[in-house]
Amino acid sequence: MFIRPNTYGKTMNHLDYEQVINAAARDMNEGFCINETCGANSLGVEPDAKEHRCHVCQEFTLYGVQQVLIMMENG
Ligand SMILES: [Zn+2]
Repeated sequence: MFIRPNTYGKTMNHLDYEQVINAAARDMNEGFCINETCGANSLGVEPDAKEHRCHVCQEFTLYGVQQVLIMMENG
């Protein structure tokens, strides 16, 4: 499933804003999968990464913390 930009807000309910802020603060290149059926997090993801492939669900829904925060703040 490809997630369109205008649906980001609805598909990120499983991600907690504070969890993402904390990951950003750790500065360990953590990324989050925004797939509503997944929600995995991974290391080695640049903060500004977009649409990387998630190793868990295999969808291109893995984003860096900065990108996830931007989407949450605007979603
Ligand atoms: Zn995933």
